[in-house]
Amino acid sequence: MNNPSPRSSLPRSVAVRKLAAQSQSLRGVIDGAGLPRLSEAVLAISDPVTVELRFDPGTAGFPEVIGRVSAQVSMTCQRCLGALTVALDAPIAVGVVHDIAAEQRLPQRLDPWIVVEEDGDLYDLVEEELLLALPIVALHEDESCHATPIVIGDAGSARNPFRALADLKLQR
Ligand SMILES: [Zn+2]
Repeated sequence: MNNPSPRSSLPRSVAVRKLAAQSQSLRGVIDGAGLPRLSEAVLAISDPVTVELRFDPGTAGFPEVIGRVSAQVSMTCQRCLGALTVALDAPIAVGVVHDIAAEQRLPQRLDPWIVVEEDGDLYDLVEEELLLALPIVALHEDESCHATPIVIGDAGSARNPFRALADLKLQR
């Protein structure tokens, strides 16, 4: 990638098969607001999502879309409950099919992208790949994690350990 990434905003709806027949490429960004399922899964989408895609007529009888998508999101650290930044970078390799039935004829290296009409929902494709790229458990690297000891099974003292200590002293 020698060229600086263009910051042009990509449309949600793209003429997938036409772009493939013409071997077109798409590069640009998608605003996080266009990805509600990803927004819901993370604290925030820090930067516009960057997308690079190459549309290809394909050799297996299906148009192919190959490329990658990257984004930065903030998530909750499951150790200290602070925010941390997670860089997402996911490859995209899909075969464009009309329905689920055609999916079985796709070569193994391709995931299905079901596009019923001429236009496909680019945001939906990108969002799906980013959701798959999310870590199941987000944790700080050890140095930046400001964890306080959490008492398992006692939510009150986990939230406020000093208060819990004070209560213990009062009881004695
Ligand atoms: Zn942490």
